[in-house]
Amino acid sequence: MAVTKPEAIVVGAGPGGLAAATALHRKGWSVVVLERSATLEPIGAAIAIAPNGLRALDTIDAGTPLRALAAIRGAATLRRPDGRVLAPTSGEAFTARFGEPMVLAARAELMRVLLAGLPADALRTGTTVLTVTPGDADRRATVTTADETLTADLVVAADGIRSPIRRVVFPEHPGPRYAGFTTWRAIVPAVAITPGETWGRGLVFGAMPLADGRGYWYATANRPAGTTHGDERAELLRLYRDFHAPVGDLIAAAPAGRILRLDVHEMATPLPAHHRGRVVLIGDAAHAMTPNLGQGGNQALEDAIELADVLSGVTAAGVVDALPGYSRRRVARTSAVVRKSRRIGAMAQWHGRGAVAARDTLLRVAGRVAPDAALRPLDSVLAWRPPTGAAASTRTEV
Ligand SMILES: Cc1cc2nc3c(=O)[nH]c(=O)nc-3n(C[C@H](O)[C@H](O)[C@H](O)COP(=O)(O)OP(=O)(O)OC[C@H]3O[C@@H](n4cnc5c(N)ncnc54)[C@H](O)[C@@H]3O)c2cc1C
Repeated sequence: MAVTKPEAIVVGAGPGGLAAATALHRKGWSVVVLERSATLEPIGAAIAIAPNGLRALDTIDAGTPLRALAAIRGAATLRRPDGRVLAPTSGEAFTARFGEPMVLAARAELMRVLLAGLPADALRTGTTVLTVTPGDADRRATVTTADETLTADLVVAADGIRSPIRRVVFPEHPGPRYAGFTTWRAIVPAVAITPGETWGRGLVFGAMPLADGRGYWYATANRPAGTTHGDERAELLRLYRDFHAPVGDLIAAAPAGRILRLDVHEMATPLPAHHRGRVVLIGDAAHAMTPNLGQGGNQALEDAIELADVLSGVTAAGVVDALPGYSRRRVARTSAVVRKSRRIGAMAQWHGRGAVAARDTLLRVAGRVAPDAALRPLDSVLAWRPPTGAAASTRTEV
C-alpha cells in the first residue's frame, strides 16, 4: 500500500536549512525549502568546518567532498601583534586530538555540496516567508508568503539570526543582543598564509588558506553597534597598522567593496525550547553565537542531523509528540556552546593594557606547561557524534 510521505517546509537555505532538508529528504520526507534571496550566491566569506560538522555532513554523504578541499595543515598559532607566539598548535595536533581535521571552505562550496543532496525542485528562491502558525496535534502548520499560504506537517525555521519565525512563535523572547564588537571578512587572491589568529587590545585578526590558493581573513574590533566607515579597508589598515606581517598585506589585498562587515549579535538569553507546535528552530534562528569558536554553522549542521534522527520513522501525526525530544537534545548543548563562545570572545576583545598583559602571560604560561592548552577548551564542543543510525535512510517509495 502506498504510504503518504510526511511534508516539511524548511525556511531559509543557509547551511542549517539545506542540511536539514537533505537529512529529512533522506529519511523519506517530502521537503520544500523557501529562501528569500533570489540566488544562493555567497558574499565574500568562508566557513571553517570542524570535526563535529564534518561528522554531521558524513551522515548525509556530504563530508568527503569538503574534506578534500582544504584541511588546515602546519602551524596554526595564536600570536600577539608583535608576532610573539602566545599558544602554539598545528593542524596535525588538531587532527590527532579530534580525529578529524579543521576544513576551511568557501561558503559557496558548502552550499554546492549541500544542494547536491536535494531534488532539483526542492528549493524555491525569491520566496520570503511572512508569517507562520505553529499548528498542533490536530492541525497542520501554515507558512504564508507574499503569494500563498502553504500547510505542512513540520516547519523548520532555519531563517537565521533575525528569524521572523522566532518572533512569531516565541514573541516573549528578547531576541539577539549585540556582543559589543564588529567583524570584517574577506577572501583574497592567492597569498602565502600561515593559519592562525592574533590577539591585540580589543582587536583580533585571523587568516587561513583556501584549497584553491586564495586566502580568507577575518578581523574584529570593539565598536558601538552600527558604526560604519566610508572606506572599510582604510579603517582596517589604520586599526591593524601595528600587527605583524602579513596582516597589512592581507587587508590591502582585499578587493575593494568585497569586505563583508557585520556587527556580532548572539542569543544571550536561550530559548526555553527549540520547538513550538509543529515548528522547530535550528541554527542561528535558535542559538546564534559569537564567531569565536567558529561553531555557528557547525552547530546548525548538528541540529539538522539530530532533527532528522528524532523524526526518523515518525508519521505526520506523530510530529508534535516527537519535537520535545529534539529540544531535549539541543537546548542544553547549544546553550553551552553559546556561553563558551561568548567567554572566549570577551577575553579576545579585552582592551585594557593590564588585562591584556595578564591574559597574554597566562596564555603563554599555559602553552608552556600544557602544549595542548590551546585545544583543550574545544574537547567538549568537538566531541559530538551523530546519533547511532542517523545515517540510515527510511525512505519510503510511494
Ligand atoms: C565573522 C563570522 C565568522 C564565522 N565563521 C564561522 C565558521 O568559521 N564556522 C562556523 O561554523 N560558523 C561561522 N560563523 C557563523 C555562521 O556563519 C552561522 O552560524 C551560520 O551561517 C548559520 O547558519 P543558518 O543556516 O542557521 O543561518 P543563515 O546562514 O543565516 O541562513 C539563513 C537563511 O534564511 C534566509 N531567510 C531569512 N529570513 C527569511 C524569510 N523570512 N523567508 C525566507 N528565507 C529567509 C536568509 O536569506 C538565509 O539564506 C561565522 C559568523 C561570523 C559573523
